[in-house]
Amino acid sequence: MSRVAIVTGGTRGIGEGISMALKAKGYRVAATYAGNDTAAQQFQIKTGIPIFKFDVGDYAGCEKGVAQITRNLGPVDVLVNNAGITRDVALHRMTPAQWSEVIRTNLDSAFNMSRLVIEGMRARNFGRIISISSINGRKGQFGQANYSAAKAGLVGFSKAIALEGAAKGVTCNVIAPGYINTEMVAAVPKDVLEGKILPMIPVGRLGTAAEIARCVVFLAAEDAGFITGACFDANGGQYMAT
Ligand code: NDP
Repeated sequence: MSRVAIVTGGTRGIGEGISMALKAKGYRVAATYAGNDTAAQQFQIKTGIPIFKFDVGDYAGCEKGVAQITRNLGPVDVLVNNAGITRDVALHRMTPAQWSEVIRTNLDSAFNMSRLVIEGMRARNFGRIISISSINGRKGQFGQANYSAAKAGLVGFSKAIALEGAAKGVTCNVIAPGYINTEMVAAVPKDVLEGKILPMIPVGRLGTAAEIARCVVFLAAEDAGFITGACFDANGGQYMAT
């Protein structure tokens, strides 16, 4: 029986690439999303991957969503915490709402979703939890105190879960993408992208969703059980963490 994978925010951008790559490897994939029904339905028609709509920042919503996915597809073996948002503004102008919204969607979500699948993974002695962080959680970024904090938080969270899951076959890892060619990056002004961001990327281009999906497939594999508590940087050489 093939394994079941949930990809949060799996209908667009990087998540879409991850959903498709896991499906191509034989996983039964559930792709979740928040509110963009049109994009989600187009994704479902294109890929044949079932979609589930709930807010990853809301524990009760996640509980219902995970229960439905489990009923439809079976117990969850692989969780990819990918859903994320930005609300960029310098700290001296950031509102409490801008702080909370980003922490809730990017970090609380990892607790919510991981908490709901961890007991089953431990009971079955197999699990893969993979969270999508960011280069800006590794190095910090002007205007992103909220986002950088949430994304760095995923690294500490994952190291703790890696320790807790180690004896139970549950690995927990992080992927920290650099700038990837998605709608999130399309929101960056063209002059900033071409004048400031691209010159900082040694490979000279944005990354692709497929290149991040490549890392997820690697970490989700049956024979990836010795890799846990790691953070994979996939950023075109832009930031080489020690
Ligand atoms: P997109 O904005 O293209 O897609 C985001 C996805 O997350 C959508 O499916 C969206 O659903 C879903 N989502 C957003 N908020 C919620 C929520 N509250 N509950 C459930 N689902 C939600 O993002 P990207 O593909 O660009 O980014 C994916 C991840 O990668 C994010 O965590 C991001 O921080 C990270 N990342 C992205 C980089 C980039 O360059 N793009 C670089 C580094 C990290 P809906 O379609 O309904 O809105």
